[in-house]
Amino acid sequence: MSRLDQILENIETYHPEADLAAVRRAYEHAAAAHEGQTRKSGDPYVTHPLNTAHIITELKLDVASVCAGLLHDAVEDTSMTVEELSEEFGTEISFLVDGVTKLGKLPYTDREDRQAENFRKMLLAMSKDIRVILVKFCDRLDNMRTLEHMPAHKQERISNETMQIYAPLAARLGIQWVRVELEDLCFKYLHPDEYESLKTAVAQTKVERQRYIEEVEGLLRNQMAESEIACEVKGRAKHLWSIRNKMKRTGRTYEEIHDATGFRIVTEDLGQCYAALGIAHSKWKPIPGRFKDYIALPKPNMYQSLHTAVIGPKGERIEIQIRTKEMNQVAECGIAAHWKYKEGKSGVVAGDDEEKLAWLRRMMESQRDLKDPAEFIESVKLDLFGDEVYVFTPNGDVKSLPKGACPIDLAYSVHTQVGDHCSGARVNGVIVPLRYQLRNGDTVDIITSPAQKPNKDWLKLVKTSRAKTKIRHKLRQDHRDRASELGRELLEKELRKFGRSYTKSLKSGDVERAATKLKCHSVEDLLCQLGYGKHTAMQVREVLVPDDVAAKKDTDDAGNSFTKILRKVTRRNNGSGIKVQGEDGILVRYARCCSPLPGDKITGFITRGRGVTVHTKGCTKALDMDPDRRIEVEWDDGFVGQHPVAIQVLCADKPGLLATISQSFSDTGVNITQAHCRATEDHRAVNTFHAIVSDLKQLKLVIRALGRINGVYSVDRVSGDHQS
Ligand code: MN
Repeated sequence: MSRLDQILENIETYHPEADLAAVRRAYEHAAAAHEGQTRKSGDPYVTHPLNTAHIITELKLDVASVCAGLLHDAVEDTSMTVEELSEEFGTEISFLVDGVTKLGKLPYTDREDRQAENFRKMLLAMSKDIRVILVKFCDRLDNMRTLEHMPAHKQERISNETMQIYAPLAARLGIQWVRVELEDLCFKYLHPDEYESLKTAVAQTKVERQRYIEEVEGLLRNQMAESEIACEVKGRAKHLWSIRNKMKRTGRTYEEIHDATGFRIVTEDLGQCYAALGIAHSKWKPIPGRFKDYIALPKPNMYQSLHTAVIGPKGERIEIQIRTKEMNQVAECGIAAHWKYKEGKSGVVAGDDEEKLAWLRRMMESQRDLKDPAEFIESVKLDLFGDEVYVFTPNGDVKSLPKGACPIDLAYSVHTQVGDHCSGARVNGVIVPLRYQLRNGDTVDIITSPAQKPNKDWLKLVKTSRAKTKIRHKLRQDHRDRASELGRELLEKELRKFGRSYTKSLKSGDVERAATKLKCHSVEDLLCQLGYGKHTAMQVREVLVPDDVAAKKDTDDAGNSFTKILRKVTRRNNGSGIKVQGEDGILVRYARCCSPLPGDKITGFITRGRGVTVHTKGCTKALDMDPDRRIEVEWDDGFVGQHPVAIQVLCADKPGLLATISQSFSDTGVNITQAHCRATEDHRAVNTFHAIVSDLKQLKLVIRALGRINGVYSVDRVSGDHQS
């Protein structure tokens, strides 16, 4: 019988209504595509896709998977494109083939354990549809079976990759026989001498071992029959790789390993599992610590079984696994068992999550003992597809990040310094912006620049808490640096007025003494507190230069009445009404040029010795200032302040009008502090009023009221520059 006929026959046994014509067509395409190609063994290349498809039918997968197995190398190795494949066989099959091709392209290098785990998860995450990884297993199994024809260095590389990545994944997905065969094949190529000698040793005791297995099988069958438990009992010798590991672990020789056999009891229902366990434990002495109940607590791959080990006949340790038929199906084929009966469903990406959940729910129905079913479902889904994204660093490490993570997240996961100076990234060789969302399998090279530093917007881009914490820390640090710089300038100026030098006071230790006296932890702390306005420069100066010593008075009180009001207003309140980079309590002044009001868009500047000056955003003076001194400020909501403004009213020059205007001010609760009135030659009057308002809203209210007065031509808010 040809390989193709075997495949078709296999499918018919588990799915009689399958569309076999599609399989034949896939075969013809594969044969044509690989025409003329040969394998290293000399066989026509198409034997490989045929073998792969054959293994797929042993896993009892659907027709789409079998076709994908036949076509899996067609895109990679021939001139056929994914588009052509999709036209010919539909999107489901081309999606599977494309997925298998992509997995094959991931760069594999020998890895640390944790890296290997990330790599495995990346394969699962990239597979999207679990059939992709299952087809890949079958492809790999055939490659391992025919590995002898490869050169030695390839044998080693492929075996290493299989041992580190594919065998554990097969175990994870519960496909035991694939795992066992992969491991023994790898064993053969990775440790040829060990393999041969163990194989010989096992072969020599084979007859004896077989006799023992049959004896125990018979005993178990009788015990179960006596208690009327209908079940199948099967013994098996352990596979070579697991015996080898047991020898390594225990430091024993093969002859000294006694539990090289395992037995499986497959029952009809759940209750019989526990009954069978009780019988085995009553006949043979259980080994403490070896009993595991994976029925009550299934493994993440849905594996369910009771495990125990007992001292059997002739004092040999034997392992016994007990489970129901359904559980056995899952144990043998793992995740693959799921696809057995669902032929004809398409919905490759979108629909199948729902399908899986439905299947999981059916699984759950037999799971009344489970503590939190929801948690179980979540962990399985996560295990298969992940809310994570896996990317390569330039040296081939695999990093795991939450879905939606950007290059900044990766940069901080490498090192804080790399994160703080991350200015961009090269993804698969192409420069991307910081907001780029990383995708599975991306190779990401972080670009840094010494001038770069974190800003608040980064917090919106990053997904990892590590990056968030580090960015916040850096922003706070920057903020403190600025406050401390500001504090030093304030103190320098204050001391200068009294003929003292800050530098000298610092050297003499005076500043440090002042810091201690004001209960600050350090000079740095003192300067910060000055910057934040928690202490005033005057308080510090009074410690350094007591008032009675200081004969010199603050002569800086001069200035017009407008300035006086400004000073009074801004100094009177404990709070300033302004938050500097989100912090209140910082010494601020409102700029006279534009007199910002709550509600205005504002910006701040660190001035020399006078704290932070607040300007409106559009103020021309502000635009001229040194951008390095710019600092983010915002209004402190809920702060009720008093703010000076200037309003210019252009009106007819007629008697009584000024009184009406003045009345409007008091009607809206606004106090005039100063007024300049000037008549022009064309019988009009220009009036400039200085007044105190609480915010922009109140100002708008008064402007509207003034505008409604008969004889008023225009009302404008004016900035300080145009006051007189
Ligand atoms: Mn292949």
